[in-house]
Amino acid sequence: MATHRTAQVVGARAVGTDARLLELELDDGAAFGFRGGQYVILDTGVVVGDKAIKRAYSFASADAGQQRVEIIVKRLEGGPGSAAMHHLAIGSRFTFSGPWGKLQPEVLAESTGRVLVLATDTGITAAMGVVTARAFAPRLASTTLVWLRASHDDFVAEAFVAARLPSALRELRVVHGPAAGHPERAEFGAQIARDLAGATPDAIAEAYLVGDGKVLVAARDALVDAGVATERVRLEYFFNTPPKNTTSP
Ligand SMILES: Cc1cc2nc3c(=O)[nH]c(=O)nc-3n(C[C@H](O)[C@H](O)[C@H](O)COP(=O)(O)OP(=O)(O)OC[C@H]3O[C@@H](n4cnc5c(N)ncnc54)[C@H](O)[C@@H]3O)c2cc1C
Repeated sequence: MATHRTAQVVGARAVGTDARLLELELDDGAAFGFRGGQYVILDTGVVVGDKAIKRAYSFASADAGQQRVEIIVKRLEGGPGSAAMHHLAIGSRFTFSGPWGKLQPEVLAESTGRVLVLATDTGITAAMGVVTARAFAPRLASTTLVWLRASHDDFVAEAFVAARLPSALRELRVVHGPAAGHPERAEFGAQIARDLAGATPDAIAEAYLVGDGKVLVAARDALVDAGVATERVRLEYFFNTPPKNTTSP
């Protein structure tokens, strides 16, 4: 359903040295119709050669609010899409498709066991979307959100994230580790997953992994090795997306 709609930037502010929060509304005041964890693919308005630069951005705001939503964009060195998003003025309009993505929680008849949400880097946007989703509320008391990041001043501050999390969330763990591209990063992420899966008393019943594909694949494999059902591990790659059918890093 690649229907294209038009959104308008109704608010914008810096929320970190390289992070810009954009508030968006639809032209006709309609609901975006998203569930926490989903994203849009938007046309940044930039054309390189003859190619329109379209980029994916996750809803960072809670899905209880459907008419005014937020995305947070990290400015990447030399990246045309994120640069354009950092320059969009209030009042600018752009077209987008979506909401897309299957990271949102399933509506299960019953949920037992712990839940792991593992985000790397900018993946924290979608992770905030997941844990603030209306459908996720019953899981909050069993959920550990782990945010793997390279440094404390990368993207948004920990306090910014903490302030947006529901008070019922069991735990937020911020882990500083190797940056994207570091050869030991995937194993670092896998070890986080192993440690959590090995913790007692309850097993991990579901996991939502989002961000750096190299870390996600390694963490997914570690969880499955530890006995978590493959179909209960959901992944959303932001970058370093593995080729299809990859099972190991
Ligand atoms: C489903 C999905 C949701 C996304 N949600 C967000 C979001 O909420 N906020 C956000 O800032 N970005 C998000 N992204 C990434 C975004 O779509 C763009 O890839 C990013 O803004 C870079 O675009 P660019 O044109 O500036 O740079 P490009 O020229 O496209 O990319 C430059 C390089 O940076 C890599 N890269 C992309 N993102 C990162 C990152 N976070 N850290 C390190 N390297 C990266 C790319 O793989 C590429 O190698 C999401 C991506 C996907 C697929």
